Amino acid sequence: MKITEIKHFSHRHKLELSYSKTPYQCDGCKELGFGSCYQCNKTKCNYHLHEICAVAEPFATHSFSKNSNFKFKKKGKRGKACKACGKDVQGFMYKSKETYLHPCCLKLPSTLNGDINGESLRLNLEVKASTKCLICQNKEIYKGKLKGWAFISSCGKHCYHVGCVNNMNFENWKTGYFSRLQSSGGTNGSVLIKEENGKSSKNKGWLKRYALELVANAILGGVLTTAAGSLLGL
Ligand SMILES: [Zn+2]
Ligand SMILES: [Zn+2]
Ligand SMILES: [Zn+2]
Ligand SMILES: [Zn+2]
Repeated sequence: MKITEIKHFSHRHKLELSYSKTPYQCDGCKELGFGSCYQCNKTKCNYHLHEICAVAEPFATHSFSKNSNFKFKKKGKRGKACKACGKDVQGFMYKSKETYLHPCCLKLPSTLNGDINGESLRLNLEVKASTKCLICQNKEIYKGKLKGWAFISSCGKHCYHVGCVNNMNFENWKTGYFSRLQSSGGTNGSVLIKEENGKSSKNKGWLKRYALELVANAILGGVLTTAAGSLLGL
C-alpha cells in the first residue's frame, strides 16, 4: 500500500500525497515537478516535494555511471552542477565522488514513447548529444565544460538537452504560462497538436514539437500520454 501521508524532516506539517495539475517548484531539490507530489495542506505554506524527493532512497545507482554509488544529500552545493542538466544542485541531490545529480534527473526515464498522427516516436536518453541540440544548436551544454545528457529520437533527427528543456520549462513556469494554459483548459487534450494535422506532411514541424513536448513532460515528471503533450501548447 502506498503511504499517502508522511512527516518529512524538511517541513513542520504533515505532507500528503496529491496530484498537482500545474507545475510546481519542489522545495527539496528546487527543480520543477508536475503531477504526483507530496504537498502541505495549509495553503499558506505552498510546500511541495517531488514524490522521489519526499521518499528518497538513501542510495542509488545509474546505468550511465556503472561503478558509482550515489548517496542522497539534503543540502545542495552552489557551483556544483548536475551532470545531467548542468544546473547547480541547490537542494536535495545525489552525490558520488565529484558527480552530482538532481533526484529528478537521476530518475529520468531511459526511453520515451509517443504516438501522434500515425507516427510513433521513440526518444532515448543518452549520456551526451550525438548531434546538435535543437534548442541551443550545440552538442555540449556548456562548451568544453559539461556535455549534459540528451534525449535523442531513434531516427536521430530530434535531439534535446535535458538542461535546455529544463530551462524552457522554468521560463514557461516563471511567466505563468502553465497556469494560463490550465485555466483555458488546454491541458485536457492535444488540441494544439491536432490543429497541425492539415499541414504538409513534408514539413513535420509538429513532430519536432511533439518530441519536445515528450521531453518537457518527462523532465517535469508528468505522465506520458498524448493528452499531456499539450502541456506546453507549442
Ligand atoms: Zn524534488
Ligand atoms: Zn505546511
Ligand atoms: Zn539535473
Ligand atoms: Zn541544448
